[in-house]
Amino acid sequence: MIIVLKQHAPDAQVQAFCAELRGMGFEINDSVGSDTHILGLIGDTKALAESWVLANPVVETCRRVSEPYKKANRKFHPDDTVVDVGGHRIGGGHFAVMAGPCSVEGPEQITGIARRVQAAGAGILRGGAFKPRTSPYSFQGLRAEGLELLQQARAATGQPIVTELMNNEHIPLFEEAGVDMIQIGARNMQNFELLKAVGRLKVPVLLKRGLSSTLEELVMSAEYIMAEGNPNVVLCERGIRTFEPSMRNTLDISAVPMLKKMTHLPVVIDPSHAAGIAFMVQPLAQAAVAAGADGLMIEVHNDPARAKSDGAQSLTPDQFDALMAVIRPELEFFGKTLN
Ligand code: PEP
Ligand code: MN
Repeated sequence: MIIVLKQHAPDAQVQAFCAELRGMGFEINDSVGSDTHILGLIGDTKALAESWVLANPVVETCRRVSEPYKKANRKFHPDDTVVDVGGHRIGGGHFAVMAGPCSVEGPEQITGIARRVQAAGAGILRGGAFKPRTSPYSFQGLRAEGLELLQQARAATGQPIVTELMNNEHIPLFEEAGVDMIQIGARNMQNFELLKAVGRLKVPVLLKRGLSSTLEELVMSAEYIMAEGNPNVVLCERGIRTFEPSMRNTLDISAVPMLKKMTHLPVVIDPSHAAGIAFMVQPLAQAAVAAGADGLMIEVHNDPARAKSDGAQSLTPDQFDALMAVIRPELEFFGKTLN
C-alpha cells in the first residue's frame, strides 16, 4: 500500500503514525520528494483497512499496489533517482556514456582507449577483467591484473571505472581496487546471493537484463539489491533472445519507457551486445536517446579484428567519435545533459 501524506503534516504526528504502522509489522519505505511525502508499506496489507489509514489526519490519500517490487516502484518514489558514479550523474536529465573495450587486454590498450573515449565525451570507462564467456576455452579475462590495469587507466584519465563482478569471493578485490561501479552481467541477473552481496555495499550497481528475462524479473533483481540497503542501481537493457537470427540479440527499445513507468531507477542501453555487429551500434544508440534512456554503454576497441572478445560489435575510436558527434545534438534536442 502507498500512503500519500498531506503537505506540511506536522512531523511529530507523521512519526507517531509511522511508529504505529511499524508496530503492526510493516516496513516503511519513506520517500520525501520535492512536494510529496509518500510512505510505501512493505508487508502483507490485506488486513489493513483503507478507512483506518484515511482517518489519520496526516493522510491525504492511500492506494493498494499489487506490484511485488516496492523500493524500486515509481509509485512509492515519483521522482527520478539520480545515481552518482565518481562525480558523473546518471538519471534525472543527466546522461552518462560508458565506453571501453569488452575485455581489458593490456596497459597500452586500456589506457589508450580510455583517453580516446574520454576525449569523445565518455565520462565513465568500461572494461571487463573477469569475463563470463560461453566457452570455457575462450579468453576468461586478465582477472586481478585487469583490475590493476583499470586502476592505471583511471589514474591516467580521471575517469571512474565500471567492471563486471561474477562472484561473491571477488568482492574484496573489487573493494581494494575501488571499483566505482559494479556491473552485474546478464548471465548473473538472477544470481540472488550475488545481488544480496552487492546490496550490502554502497557502490553503484549496473544491473544488466538477463538474456530471457522479463522486465518485472529485472526490476525484482534490482529490488534484491535495494532491499539490502543499496539504492544506487542503474538498469541496463542489452538485448534479449528472440526468434530473429540476423542480430546477436534484439534490442528491446520498449523496455526504456516501460521501465521508466515501473521504476524511478535510471535506465541505460547497451547497443553493442544487443546488436552484436558494429554497424548497428550508432542507429540503436540514437534510438535509445530518443526513447528516453539515461545513458549508453558502448564497446570500443583500438583493433576490433584482433580483440580478445566481442570484436565484431566493437567500434573503433574513430567510429565512436562519429557516434558521439551524432548523439550530442540529439541529447541537446531532448534536453539532456551529457555526464
Ligand atoms: C559485457 O558487458 O561485456 C557483457 C558480458 O555483457 P552482458 O552481461 O550483457 O552479456
Ligand atoms: Mn562484451
